[in-house]
Amino acid sequence: MPFQAYLYYLYENITAVERVCLDCGARLLGRSDKKFCSDQCRNNYNNRLNRDQNNYVRNVHAQLRRNRKILSDLYEDGHHRIHRDALFAQGYNFTFFTHLVETRDGQHWSYCFEYGFLEAEAGYLELQKSSSYLELGTEEEI
Ligand SMILES: [Zn+2]
Repeated sequence: MPFQAYLYYLYENITAVERVCLDCGARLLGRSDKKFCSDQCRNNYNNRLNRDQNNYVRNVHAQLRRNRKILSDLYEDGHHRIHRDALFAQGYNFTFFTHLVETRDGQHWSYCFEYGFLEAEAGYLELQKSSSYLELGTEEEI
């Protein structure tokens, strides 16, 4: 077999076998940078990717909103000191928060939007409300 023909043989029998459509798995022929066998498969693939990413963002937003609602209801009802088990019992998820603030005296506040809490003693949390996120932005620039 002439060398050129041998290379062509390799191309046909190695690259073609390994390259398949990312959506349907069909063999891809032609350009080596092709990822899909058709526009339909490209659309299916991209729509599925977007849907998965949107679901993730939606689920995180839902948990953050739930956390904020729990803190907000407690705080606005006058509960500014609460046991963490009580938050947990209401469905609070400590994994999700929006930002952390360290005060000058070394206190660490965990915030869910404008409501924040500080770990006090014996599992109790101090709640506070703040809307100073704009000031925080300027603090970081210093
Ligand atoms: Zn396909």
